[in-house]
Amino acid sequence: MARRLHSTKSKLGQNFLVDKNILDQIVKFAEVNQDDVILEIGAGEGNLTRLLLETGCSRLYAVEIDTDLKPFLKTLEGPRLELIFGDAVKLDFTALAPAPNKVVANIPYHITTPLLWHILEDLAPKGLCRIIVMVQQEVARRLQAQPHSKERSPLGITLQAMGNVRTLRSVPPTAFRPMPKVNSAIVEMNISRWIGLANDRLWRRVLRASFSKRRKTLVNALSSCLPIEKKVLEELLKRQNLSPLVRPEDLSIEDWLYLRDKLEDLLLGGERKPTPDN
Ligand code: SAM
Repeated sequence: MARRLHSTKSKLGQNFLVDKNILDQIVKFAEVNQDDVILEIGAGEGNLTRLLLETGCSRLYAVEIDTDLKPFLKTLEGPRLELIFGDAVKLDFTALAPAPNKVVANIPYHITTPLLWHILEDLAPKGLCRIIVMVQQEVARRLQAQPHSKERSPLGITLQAMGNVRTLRSVPPTAFRPMPKVNSAIVEMNISRWIGLANDRLWRRVLRASFSKRRKTLVNALSSCLPIEKKVLEELLKRQNLSPLVRPEDLSIEDWLYLRDKLEDLLLGGERKPTPDN
């Protein structure tokens, strides 16, 4: 009865996944074992929630902003499921105990970037190791973009530095109800190093400054945002075998980590350096 009464809200990204094969595949990609604590963002009518519970995971947090969907989700309630009604971008995930080690979700596309940053900030330092999410195909490409690609972005670089990102499959609009106007993709992100990187203020500042002026060279972009002379920046790049005319999209992960490290020495005197383990 409740199912027939819910009219979907496009402003909340309510494109429910109705293709059973693809739902099953998401669960398979998550490689769930009985110790796993899973976080699902945007539980919707509970199509994925139900299948995640069936895996026998130890705990599942299901977040949903739309309280009109309560009647669907309440039917799934049990000792292993905690329903959380609220805005996933604003919730304090560090308060979840036990902390989730996996995120599995068909997320609302309009919040993809802030949501992924928020998940990395709150949960990577607490043991998050795997994220399986449905995203817009175009976003999947950006997250995996390699050096020299115009699609390179601060979030993609950070995810690649923290582990790896890979598209597992593309998903057509016909898999959803109602059908979205865009193609989708299921993406895998593994987190295995630099787990504090998303919280590193200098890392975020350097990436933001560099990519906020995409048409400029890296030296021009950074010198207009940071109190460092162009000559000094050029010398840093030279020591890493980078041209003074290099653009932000050309740098490798190693180049970004090197640059962050050297800029810290210049700006902060290198008092607190992150390591691959923190
Ligand atoms: N998991 C369901 C499925 O696969 O059928 C629903 C996925 S649907 C693409 C995204 C869901 O996220 C919607 O139910 C929507 O109401 C919810 N949502 C949108 N914005 C949200 C937010 N800021 N925080 C939590 N949930 C949100």
